[in-house]
Amino acid sequence: MIETDVLVIGAGPIGLFAVHQLGIIGLKSEVVDNLDKIGGQCIELYPDKPIYDIPAIPECTGEELTKNLLKQIAPFKTNFHLNDRVEEIKKDGSKWKITTNKKKLFIATNIIIAGGVGSFEPRKLLTKDAEKFEGKSIFYSVKDKNLFKNKKICIFGGGDSALDWAIELSNFSEVAIVHRRLEFRGAPLSIQTVKNLEKKGKVKIFAPYQLKSIEEDENKTLKSINLIDDDGKMKKLETDYVLGFFGLIMQLGPIVNWGLNLYKKTIQVNTENFQTNQEGIFAIGDICTYPGKLKLILSGFHEAALAARACYKLARPNEKYRFEFTTTSKNIKGRLGIDPNKK
Ligand SMILES: Cc1cc2nc3c(=O)[nH]c(=O)nc-3n(C[C@H](O)[C@H](O)[C@H](O)COP(=O)(O)OP(=O)(O)OC[C@H]3O[C@@H](n4cnc5c(N)ncnc54)[C@H](O)[C@@H]3O)c2cc1C
Repeated sequence: MIETDVLVIGAGPIGLFAVHQLGIIGLKSEVVDNLDKIGGQCIELYPDKPIYDIPAIPECTGEELTKNLLKQIAPFKTNFHLNDRVEEIKKDGSKWKITTNKKKLFIATNIIIAGGVGSFEPRKLLTKDAEKFEGKSIFYSVKDKNLFKNKKICIFGGGDSALDWAIELSNFSEVAIVHRRLEFRGAPLSIQTVKNLEKKGKVKIFAPYQLKSIEEDENKTLKSINLIDDDGKMKKLETDYVLGFFGLIMQLGPIVNWGLNLYKKTIQVNTENFQTNQEGIFAIGDICTYPGKLKLILSGFHEAALAARACYKLARPNEKYRFEFTTTSKNIKGRLGIDPNKK
């Protein structure tokens, strides 16, 4: 069980800045994110694209913004619980009890939901039985490539992830790529590399083909898959593992069950402190809504600043919150690991 002042749900830009705002006023926080990396939409959807409307930063990419936000919160040594999703929250006296997918338990006075458009989840194979093999022979991400060494791998998808993993795994395994269209969508260099590997016999390409059915052996282990093309022609492929890279979908997921006032897949908050209809639960960033809400990073930063101050009042009920500037506060400088006497 992990006790903290604030549990932050979501490691997107707004969750990260919330950690900063909590840290400078002396509150501890822990962060949970469903993804395997920090940065939310900035990292998952547009790491290389330039952003032009972060105040005082004329231009930075999604990745650069994430790196700088992480640098800014480094002094607080925050724990990130990645690849885990907050499933359930329950009132526990004056605190909140939070349980994740991986059965981690947090006790926190406050929860800040910075869940963006919900948790990102992989699009999955729809074929009957695919779910049965998930996590055993069918995967939608690669956590440890050693699992796929010297095996027969079938990779589904036509984008960068599918092509990159086909290139990587072809170094030590038999790789087939299956794509439902003739044309691939990935980077031109990756497409060319895969075509060259096909010529050398290191990769097989089946396009346009789709998965029709899965066959198992007597031990109920995946043995082969049947593919079908647009004309109904079938092809059987013996395979040990199937990897699917069909992109991500965003789902509000368990958030809908937390007793919060929702409006069109967003959480209603008041603009005084971004608290929801539940005391001690705040929502900031893309996930919150109020009259005039703009789904911009800079708006989320403001929301984080106000929510953090409201968290302080609940986490330190016997202490008075004193507004301080970072430029002049010795307390804040101390928390940031800066010499408090530095001018
Ligand atoms: C292509 C594109 C370009 C953009 N360009 C700009 C721009 O130029 N300027 C600008 O200001 N904005 C831009 N935006 C919007 C900006 O990216 C969003 O406003 C911002 O990412 C919102 O941040 P967030 O932290 O609220 O949410 P997100 O970045 O969506 O992060 C939320 C995180 O919460 C996690 N999560 C959700 N639910 C759970 C749960 N139950 N348990 C655990 N984790 C959970 C998700 O996995 C995700 O990582 C752009 C967006 C896109 C898609």
